[in-house]
Amino acid sequence: MNRRVNRLAVVGGGAAGLTAAIAAGERARELGVPLDIVVFERDDRVGRSILATGNGRCNFSNRNIKFFDYHNHEFVGEAIGRIAMAPDDDAVHSFFSSHGLFWREEDDGRQYPQANKASVVVDVLRASAAAVGVREACECEVAAIEAPREAGKPFTLRMADGVLERADAVIVACGGKAMASLSAAGLAVLPLQPMLGPLRCSGEDAKFTRELDNIRVRCRAMLVRPQGNEYACVALERGELMFRKYGLSGICVYDLSRHFQPGDEVEINFLPDYDPFEPGEVEAFLSERWDALTDTFGAITYGDFLRGLLLPRVSEALLKRSGVRPDEACGRDDAVNLACLLTMFHLFVEGIADADQCQVRRGGLDVAGFDPQTMSARKLPGLYAAGEALDVDGRCGGYNLHWAWSSGLIAGRAATDWLNS
Ligand SMILES: Cc1cc2nc3c(=O)[nH]c(=O)nc-3n(C[C@H](O)[C@H](O)[C@H](O)COP(=O)(O)OP(=O)(O)OC[C@H]3O[C@@H](n4cnc5c(N)ncnc54)[C@H](O)[C@@H]3O)c2cc1C
Repeated sequence: MNRRVNRLAVVGGGAAGLTAAIAAGERARELGVPLDIVVFERDDRVGRSILATGNGRCNFSNRNIKFFDYHNHEFVGEAIGRIAMAPDDDAVHSFFSSHGLFWREEDDGRQYPQANKASVVVDVLRASAAAVGVREACECEVAAIEAPREAGKPFTLRMADGVLERADAVIVACGGKAMASLSAAGLAVLPLQPMLGPLRCSGEDAKFTRELDNIRVRCRAMLVRPQGNEYACVALERGELMFRKYGLSGICVYDLSRHFQPGDEVEINFLPDYDPFEPGEVEAFLSERWDALTDTFGAITYGDFLRGLLLPRVSEALLKRSGVRPDEACGRDDAVNLACLLTMFHLFVEGIADADQCQVRRGGLDVAGFDPQTMSARKLPGLYAAGEALDVDGRCGGYNLHWAWSSGLIAGRAATDWLNS
């Protein structure tokens, strides 16, 4: 007797969808069961979203991933709890290494393909998918997923062109943005918020950043929240910050943007090796510097004092902001009084400057409705989700792709097991 072959539909051929399809196919092969796996992709090719990552180089993971750096970290922790303890020995690294990807590390544990091209990652994924018979159905946009009318019946996928497709199990892996328009079998979808993007400054502060447009500084940047007469530190980052016409950009600003709330300010420390909260530390550095410079040059100006410490345009803008001319004489006390300006420089921010530049969307499918061990919808057997479609996002540095691969691997394997249970 011919038994009907189960069909698994994966909605979205990005990072999560491709890994889910491969994991499902490999699990079916392990179990020795046939499985028809189709990736429905609205674009004309799969993997395009991966090509844009890491400036075309694909920062695909990170050696030091910590699950508390994710939004909904308890869910992430339960799903991929080992990631904090076992760098390079978790499911993602084993997967890529066994499928032929060779990689190298840069600063802060960021991992990139050795070939330094995102296309290499896509090649590895597509070849691995083809090896287990995954079918790519491109230019096929899924408009709605409808739950089976009764147990044992298939899901219906309503395509944007009106065609109906059936599937015994479905993995939703359409990414963050698309969750705004996909109707996913009545599951709770939280509003989408762009994250990991540049921040807009307002008023005088925007004038300041405009004057420094395109200038990069290495600094410590803190997102601070006024509380009475004081500020609470919401997030602290160290790295490169770029001034832009509209405000602030750069990786450390992107990371701060994940925590932004109206009313927050960004505090910049232009002397990142000195801690303004260590009493006297910055002042000692400034007075020693003043002593050294006056020993060499005799009487000095503010311009002389800052020369060699900051980029000239940054010093000029900072001095202008504090109402001092660069050619004014700078005594020892004046130099020490620059401590606040140099290490606790505040800028008001209004929020995300340009949603299109944001790397991820917070929101999407509410994780409360999913089992982190399997990525299956608690109330809808046979429906799974992975990647950014779920309300999970992480910091810059490979965290978001790491989540996409991890959750894809879990969902794909679990879907095959469920279909064969
Ligand atoms: C410019 C940029 C750079 C980034 N760089 C990095 C980086 O270096 N490292 C990192 O970790 N993260 C990075 N990210 C974030 C990362 O790319 C995402 O978190 C990750 O790609 C999410 O994977 P996903 O598979 O869930 O969704 P996506 O990659 O968005 O894939 C979803 C796929 O589904 C398809 N799709 C959508 N809707 C439908 C539909 N209705 N029917 C059929 N198909 C559909 C889409 O066309 C797409 O192919 C970057 C993001 C951006 C925008």
